[in-house]
Amino acid sequence: MVSSIKIGEVTSVPGKSVHGKYRVAERAASTIELPISIIQSRKPGPTLVVVAGEHGCEYSGIVAAVKLARDLKASELSGAVIIVPLANPTAFDARYLFVNPIDQVNPYGAYPGSPGATVTFQIAHKILHEIALKGDALVHLHGADYNEALVPFNYVPITGRKDIDRRSSELASCFPVLYHLNALPASKSTSVPPVGTTYAVTADGTLYWESATRGIPATMVEAGKEGKLEEETVSIHYDGLINVMKHLGILSGKAEYKKGVKILKNPVLVANRSAGLFIPKVGYGESVKKGQTLGEIWNFEGEVLETISSPIDGFVVCRINFVAADSYPTQTQPYLFYITQVE
Ligand SMILES: [Zn+2]
Repeated sequence: MVSSIKIGEVTSVPGKSVHGKYRVAERAASTIELPISIIQSRKPGPTLVVVAGEHGCEYSGIVAAVKLARDLKASELSGAVIIVPLANPTAFDARYLFVNPIDQVNPYGAYPGSPGATVTFQIAHKILHEIALKGDALVHLHGADYNEALVPFNYVPITGRKDIDRRSSELASCFPVLYHLNALPASKSTSVPPVGTTYAVTADGTLYWESATRGIPATMVEAGKEGKLEEETVSIHYDGLINVMKHLGILSGKAEYKKGVKILKNPVLVANRSAGLFIPKVGYGESVKKGQTLGEIWNFEGEVLETISSPIDGFVVCRINFVAADSYPTQTQPYLFYITQVE
C-alpha cells in the first residue's frame, strides 16, 4: 500500500490523476494558487517532480508539463509524478518578462525562498520545501522568455557530492539536447551575476541547485524561443520527461540517453553600459573569438555609442532580441549575450 502525497489542499489518490490548485500566497483581495497535478500509481516507486513556468512567457515548458499531466495514466506508472506547470501565474496572466510583477523579483534565483519575505520568496519557499523535496528527482523546465532565443541545453548542478552529481547528469542525458552546462555556485565560479538583479548566472538560488544540494538529483532544461510555442521545443521537454520516467523506472521501457553531449562551462553575461538601440552582429549558436564584435548600441541618429565585444573565446548560447537597451543592469534586461566556453 503506498501512502498518498499531500501538497497544501491537494492530496493524491493512488491509482488516479488528481488535478488541483495549491495556495501559495495571499494578497489583500486575492490568492495566488499554482496549478498542480499528482499522478500516483498503486504500485510503489520513485517520485518525480516537474516544475515549469517560473518565467511567465516560457510557453514550451509550460505546455509540455500540461500535456504530461493530461497524458499520464496512474495505472501505467510505478511511483508518482508531481507536476507544477506554472510556478509564476501572475507573470503568465500579465504576459510579464522574467519577474513576478507584484514584487519585481526574478524567481529563478530566489530559492530557498523565505516565508517572511516578498511574494516571490514566499512562493519559492513553498515550491522547494513542500513540493521539490517530496521527490526523488527534480526536473525544472525553462526556455527563453519572449526577449530571448537560445540553443537548447540542460543545466547540471555540480555540488561535489559525486553520487548526486552523477544522477543529475543522468537525468540531463535523458533530454534530446547536445549541450550540458556544468553549473557551479558563485564560490566556485568565475562568472559574475549582474549586480542589482536577481538573475542568477551561477547555480546558487536556483531550484535545481537548492534541490541537488539537499540530496535530490536535479536538472534544468532550457528549450524555447522568444515566447513562441513551437512543437520542436515542446517535444524536447516532453520527450525528455518521458525518458526520465523510463530512466527512473516510473514508466516501463528503456530510456534513450543522448550521445556525444558537449559540456559548456564558465558562463559569462555580456551586457552594455550605454542606453540606446541594440544592434546585434552575431546570433545564438555561433562561436566567437575574444575581442570579436558581438553588437553595437546606437543612438537615434544611428551613431555607434558603444561596441560590445566578446570577453572570451566561446559559444553564444543565448541572445536578447529586444532592440531597446537600457543602461545595464535591469531586472528585465540582465544581459545581452550569454556566452560560455565549450570543453
Ligand atoms: Zn527562464
